[in-house]
Amino acid sequence: MSKITEIFGSMVFDETVMKNKLPRDVYGRLEKHIADGSELPIAVADVIASAVKDWAEQKGATHFTHWFQPMTGVTAEKHDSLMNFSGKNLIKGEPDASSFPSSGMRATFEARGYTAWDTSSPMFIKEDTLYIPTAFISYDGDALDKKTPLLRSDEAIDVQSRRVLSALGEDVKKVTPQIGPEQEYFLIPKSLYAKRKDLIFTGRTLIGAAPPKSQELDDHYFGQLKPAVKAFMADLDEELWKLGVKASTEHNEVAPSQHELAPIFSECNIASDHNQITMELMKKVADRHGMRCLLHEKPFDGINGSGKHINWSLAADTGLNVFKPGHDPLHNTVFLVFMTAVIKAVDKYQDMLRISVASASNDHRLGGSEAPPAIISIFLGEDITAVMDAFEAGESEVEVKDRRMSMGIGVLTDFKKDTTDRNRTSPFAFTGNRFEFRMVGSLTSVSCPAYMLNTMTASVLKEFADAMEASDDAEACAMELAKKAYSEHKRIVFNGDNYTDEWVREAEKRGLKNYKTVSECMPEWTSEKNIELFTSLGVLTEKELRARQEILFEEYCKELNIEALTLLDMTEKDLIPAVRDYCTALAEGIGAQTAALGEDISGTGKRCLKCMLSITDDLYSAAEDLKEVTDDVPEFSIKDPDAKVFCDSVIEYMKDIRTIADELEVKMPEKYWPIPTYGEMLFAQEYK
Ligand code: ADP
Ligand code: MG
Repeated sequence: MSKITEIFGSMVFDETVMKNKLPRDVYGRLEKHIADGSELPIAVADVIASAVKDWAEQKGATHFTHWFQPMTGVTAEKHDSLMNFSGKNLIKGEPDASSFPSSGMRATFEARGYTAWDTSSPMFIKEDTLYIPTAFISYDGDALDKKTPLLRSDEAIDVQSRRVLSALGEDVKKVTPQIGPEQEYFLIPKSLYAKRKDLIFTGRTLIGAAPPKSQELDDHYFGQLKPAVKAFMADLDEELWKLGVKASTEHNEVAPSQHELAPIFSECNIASDHNQITMELMKKVADRHGMRCLLHEKPFDGINGSGKHINWSLAADTGLNVFKPGHDPLHNTVFLVFMTAVIKAVDKYQDMLRISVASASNDHRLGGSEAPPAIISIFLGEDITAVMDAFEAGESEVEVKDRRMSMGIGVLTDFKKDTTDRNRTSPFAFTGNRFEFRMVGSLTSVSCPAYMLNTMTASVLKEFADAMEASDDAEACAMELAKKAYSEHKRIVFNGDNYTDEWVREAEKRGLKNYKTVSECMPEWTSEKNIELFTSLGVLTEKELRARQEILFEEYCKELNIEALTLLDMTEKDLIPAVRDYCTALAEGIGAQTAALGEDISGTGKRCLKCMLSITDDLYSAAEDLKEVTDDVPEFSIKDPDAKVFCDSVIEYMKDIRTIADELEVKMPEKYWPIPTYGEMLFAQEYK
């Protein structure tokens, strides 16, 4: 394998290449534009385009594309020949994108959306194409994508963090959110995938009985990699490194055939682009290795789902990480102010954090095996909780368990142990110098959870900054605000086991929200509080918010509808005919046996036949019930109360079918069962 240093970033038009290829004054203009958004004249863009074109052609590229992230959650691209490449089409593109969801934000007479070059994320070459990361906006400037609000939220948190830091006497020029998204996924043989319509159409198995062995032994977690999986990971790493993605940790996860890739963290916007590239390449590279990469949050029922833990922190250009407790967190004003800002933000905007991870697919995972519940809470760990409690009580020392110590001696090592190792059940955990948001689903774009975190934290920082700037003693004012924020919002802190029923009851007592499904949380998108949050910081307009709410809800309903139709198709075309074949064989066997013996034997054959016929009858009825609701599909709008009823009944009827189908699977001889089983897919022998 090529050395990482040789290939890393070799296909990226990064800072080093730019410095090399661009005239000094042009590079200066671009650098300034990236730093402060100053204008980039077309003449300068022309020079950049020409240099990029030369570089890309030398690397074998023949085409270029504006690469954007419409609200579907996946990326989109439209390739053009590099022959036509100039400053004009570097800066702006006009994809014929009328069928991307916009929920009315693009008037029909102006169906086009525009893509605008995002200079903060470097261009790269994939296969024969130069990729230009872009934001996707309407003629009127409405954000039609997932990147634009992320960029706006980066700016909001930068501005508000700097205001707070500057009032505290810190000289900081830029604060950037940092993200490290750990990506989980499953790999199964392509040949088996091809035989499962549910995986093909919905990304998850809609039926499937538990195999005799599952994940109870935990023998897969961090276990030895099978050679075929190892080869896949090596190939994937190489592809990612070429594109500048710092893929770093690759290991087996808890469930059989489940794995994880964690990159080294980077600036939010770039981490988000890189995660999209990672997901895409995972699928492509798997294909080359005869495998299918499943990115769905819950491909297999009863077995751990896949998440995308988002590690999030705020870093200043000076190297300061505002969440680093330091040797004396109790007297670390920056730490206390930012920590309490997050605590307040998470409590106040629980609904938005829940919405940021809401999808039909993630609903199956949240609250299931090893995944955090749908209730948002923060894990601080014993030591930091003790620090915060001491801070609230106005004490100058911290008592940690039976140790009384003044902060500074050996505490940091304890923080690490406490905060990173002990609680894997928390949806939002402080892990020593960052927060780890664990509710995010594996398929979800990083963008939405990231811009929620940035925006809600920015809004509390803004409150703090407004008061601090108006006060004579900014530091004392900050301490008062932080104390008050902690007192009022510490109900969101929970260090215990999030998987227990006691926690669900306790959370209810504390008044915390528990939105189990997308349709429960979705109306909150546009509550007065949340509209105020986004509009006051300029991250999303009310129109953009409402559009996102509609699109997400519609997507949710459509996904459920596709699942229902797929399940009906499998039931009617695969399962019932297979059981019928088996029953016919049973009946023929009984007939042949009776003929052979010359008498009517009653016994196992007949009982078995009767039992199979009765279960099939139940299956048929359950399918009829589901068909009835899918036949009557309402308008998929959040405003239509029937839509929620539709979603809830589809979920219930699908569960009924699944229970019956799984019972049939257990009872049927393997040779009659028409689709690959969980055992075959999860313990594929191809990889030995
Ligand atoms: P674990 O599985 O214990 O959570 P991993 O090593 O799998 O740990 O992933 C940790 C992730 O957190 C990596 O992507 C890493 O780069 C990221 N990370 C580390 N420090 C920070 C930080 N200060 N800000 C954001 N992300 C961080
Ligand atoms: Mg993690």
